[in-house]
Amino acid sequence: MALINGTDVARDITEQTTKRAYEFEQRTGRKPCLAAVLVGEDPASVTYVKMKRNRSAKAGIESRFVQLPAETTTEQLVAEITKLSEDDGVDGILLQHPVPGHIDERAAFEAIAPGKDVDGVTMHSFAAMAFSEPGFHSATPGGIMRLLEAYDVDLKGKHAAVIGRSPILGKPVAMLLLAKDATVTICHSKTANLDEIVRTADIVVAAVGKPNFITAIKPGAVVIDAGYNEGNVGDVDFDQVADDASLITPVPGGVGPTTIAVLLEQTVSAAIRRSEDM
Ligand code: NAP
Repeated sequence: MALINGTDVARDITEQTTKRAYEFEQRTGRKPCLAAVLVGEDPASVTYVKMKRNRSAKAGIESRFVQLPAETTTEQLVAEITKLSEDDGVDGILLQHPVPGHIDERAAFEAIAPGKDVDGVTMHSFAAMAFSEPGFHSATPGGIMRLLEAYDVDLKGKHAAVIGRSPILGKPVAMLLLAKDATVTICHSKTANLDEIVRTADIVVAAVGKPNFITAIKPGAVVIDAGYNEGNVGDVDFDQVADDASLITPVPGGVGPTTIAVLLEQTVSAAIRRSEDM
């Protein structure tokens, strides 16, 4: 078994991003700008946004912060995001997920202009991923693909099992794996024989949101644990499966760091594209 070191992969991506952000600033006289929108005060979300803003600053990306009260309505949130979509000084928009339950999250995501969707959450970005057209990747799926690439994992003709089908994680990562010629099975809460499917997979991507959910894999499989549950616990029971895995991500230090790295990389890409279009 070997560990996949997400911190190293993220550092490499961010080094490049920092250089590109610097070159952008030299050329245009301004830093790339990421606007982060947070609704409510969920402690995990507050921490994520803070972390993303700190990393932005370190990479030479300006960050704007729009903090809205928990009782914000869908209409108010859509209006705030629309303003950012129309603001020439903003290159990328991040709406921290999840938003409070009374808000129509899809409507809020769709208010993000496609050219600023650096977290890859809009239907436009999903379609681009599905059709292998240029566009922004969902940040976590994009990070997962970078991990597989960095560790030379051959996906062609391999069976990949994705456990979870959320619009920001399970579904888009399945599309990206398919685009790399993997044969993909998407599992969810209604899947019959889930354990059997997972035990036939060469690549397992766990995106369930249930601590230690995956307990058995095929010997030699590559295991990517996107789960992040309370107490730094992943969706894969690391102790149970690590010996059977050829490669496995730890939690923390696996998928998490690459998510932010891809978000920042795409912010700089958005800034460059926008400046070229102007
Ligand atoms: P989500 O929206 O709650 O989706 C969870 C998915 O898991 C759903 O598709 C659900 O199926 C499926 N599921 C739930 N219980 C299941 C069961 N017993 N058997 C099989 N499938 C089951 O979660 P998410 O936003 O995709 O996040 C998933 C995990 O990734 C969480 O731990 C989250 O914290 C983590 N995450 C990490 C990052 C990062 O940067 N590292 C980013 C985002 C999310 P149904 O569709 O049938 O309900």
